[in-house]
This record gives sequence, structure tokens and C-alpha cells, in this order.
Amino acid sequence: MNQSVIDILKQQELSRKDIIYLLSITDRTEHEQLIKHAYSVKEQTIGRNVYLRGLIEFSNHCKKNCLYCGIRSGNPKVNRYAMTDEEILNTVDFAVKNRFTGIVLQSGEQQSYEFTNRITKLILKIKQATNPEFRFTLSLGEQSKETYKAWFEAGAQRYLLRIETSNEELYRKIHPANKLHDFKTRLQCLENIQKAGFQTGTGVIIGLPFQTIENLADDLLFLKQMSIDMVGMGPYLEHTDTPLFEYKDSLLPLNNRFNLSLRMIAVLRILMPNINIASTTALQSIVPMGREQGLKAGANVLMPNLTPGKYRGNYLLYDNKPCVDEEADDCIDCLSSRVQMIGEEIAYNDLGDSKHYKKRQQIE
Ligand code: SAH
Ligand code: SF4
Repeated sequence: MNQSVIDILKQQELSRKDIIYLLSITDRTEHEQLIKHAYSVKEQTIGRNVYLRGLIEFSNHCKKNCLYCGIRSGNPKVNRYAMTDEEILNTVDFAVKNRFTGIVLQSGEQQSYEFTNRITKLILKIKQATNPEFRFTLSLGEQSKETYKAWFEAGAQRYLLRIETSNEELYRKIHPANKLHDFKTRLQCLENIQKAGFQTGTGVIIGLPFQTIENLADDLLFLKQMSIDMVGMGPYLEHTDTPLFEYKDSLLPLNNRFNLSLRMIAVLRILMPNINIASTTALQSIVPMGREQGLKAGANVLMPNLTPGKYRGNYLLYDNKPCVDEEADDCIDCLSSRVQMIGEEIAYNDLGDSKHYKKRQQIE
């Protein structure tokens, strides 16, 4: 007899086979059953709460050349920029005034001493300007063990480094073949981030060329096995000026990539009920209410873009990125009502630390 989604969801644990089944759903009703179930798991563990972090994309200088990314070093069309400390502090101030409990500092990857030292100092400066509870998430790529430690000690509490894919062979297909883009180094960095003490976030790109459903099922099992605290994952979106663009005709249609991303979020919520899962901007690029749909599938974090408008057009990781012509005010104005519309509340009085991290700390 064929197994139904309801039967699978009744089980205590999902096997790899079950995960593959759930990710492969094509039937509308089955898809809805999965999403509903994941949402009920989120309601029980996190509640109907959404945690906000303000995203500051402070520089697009990048020494890497990932084959999917619009700001890769090999794209000469990009106007490179770096926000000054003052501009970053003003943006932090804006975040605080709008009751954000934390920010995410993101940029292309740079490893020079000037860069890493600047970040350490910047963390200290921001700490001085905010209350002691204010949360920093860094998303600054691969760094040395010492650098991760220095940034943690300076006061950053969280770090995001997507593994992109947990399959080494696929990793090699979507990155140039050189030491700067080495799967084992990336994995080691993720472990070093955990060891430094950070709430550790990672994630994957969904719907990449050459990627299979089995790869994605293994990605979810990887996240669980790594005991990750936070996840940001979203659909792959093409960028015209990248080498992977030539595979555009082999991709899943956008709508399917979107629904597959929702099912990835849903299955992850079932596998890891107490982690933080971001509903990413890439979802919103495909469907205007895409991030809200991500929340309904089990995600619980939103990262509104606070990057000043004049820089946004230069931080295009993929084509058709939303809100590029806007300022931060426009983006967050309607946020609260959009979240309320789907029956959720922004948790302004909660720092939104990963419950999984807290539990991990108690056990260790
Ligand atoms: N340089 C840092 C942070 C900025 S890139 C780093 O790479 O870790 C942040 C994320 O954007 C990457 O991890 C990748 O998963 C995502 N990204 C880049 N290009 C993308 C694309 N074309 N489609 C979807 N996500 C993309
Ligand atoms: Fe640079 Fe990150 Fe883009 Fe890779 S994904 S090219 S490291 S910004």
C-alpha cells in the first residue's frame, strides 16, 4: 500500500527515504498537509513569533568567485563599495529606533588583516553605541580560527556561513577549482565557528543546477547531524553575469523551486523543532508574499534589508532582487501588518536567541 504524507508525519523520526518522499511531493493537498504540520510544530516550540534582524550589506568587495553569485570577483560590471563606520553606525541607530534587537553584518569575503581588524573595532564601536543585549550576527565568510575567536570575544554572538551544499562533488561544480573554494575548508570553518562559541548558522541553496532531491535530503540530515542553531536557505536564482547562468534551461521552473524551498523549510522544522529558521529574501524574489509563506511553512526569522538605498543596486547576488529601489523605511513600514496578516506577531521584546543553542549550552 502506498504510504501517505499523514502516515509519514505521524512517525517519531523521519528516515532519509521519508525526507525524499516529502521533498518530492507534487500533489497540492499533500504539500499543504506537510506545510500545516510543520507550522504546528513551530507553534508548539517557538509560538507564533517572528524575530527580526536588520540586514546591513556593508560591502560588496569579494575575493571569491563563486560561480552562482552576482558580486563574484570575476564580474567586472559590479561597482564596488564599502560603507564607512559612520554609515554603518547610523544604520544600526536606525535599527535600534525601529525596535530591532539585533543586526546582521554581511559582505563579500575579505581576509586581510585590515579587514578583520576593522571588523573587531567596529563590533566594539557598535557595542558602545547600543545596549549590552544588542545582538550581532556576522556573515563574513571564511576566516581563520583566530579571527572567529577575536570577533566572538569582541561581542558578536552569532555567525552565518552557508555550506551551500553538503555534497562535495556538487560543491566543486558550483565553485572554481582552486584552494580558495575548497569544500573541506568551508566545513572546517563551520566547525571553527561552533567551537569559537557562536550561535552557528548555515544553510544551502535550493534548486541549483546539477542538484538532486537526494542531495537536498542529505543537506537536511547534515544540518541535523551538525546540530546547527540557525538556518538560512533559499531558492537558487540566476544572475545573468555568472558562469552558472548557462544552465538556466536545466533548472526547475521558478514556481517549483519556490514550493520546494517551502518544503525544505517545513521538513527542517520537523527535524529540528527548536532552531531558528530564516525566511529569506530570495523567496520574496519569486513571490511577493514569499517570506510570509516561509513563515507559514515553519520559519521564524525575518531579516529586513536596512542597507542604504544608494548601495543596494550594487549588492545583487542574483537577478530581480526585491526592494532594490527602496530605502530601509519603505521596507519595514508595512512589515508589522504583513506579519499580523498571517496571524503572527513580531517579538519586539525577545532577543530571539536560538532555543537550540541555549539547550546545547546547558548540556555542554
Ligand atoms: N560572502 C559571504 C556572505 C555573502 S553571500 C558568504 O558567501 O558566506 C550570502 C549568501 O548568498 C551565500 O552564502 C549564498 O548562499 C547566497 N547566494 C549567492 N548567490 C546566490 C544566487 N545566485 N542565488 C541564491 N543565493 C545566492
Ligand atoms: Fe563572494 Fe559570498 Fe558571493 Fe561567494 S557567495 S562570490 S563569497 S559574496
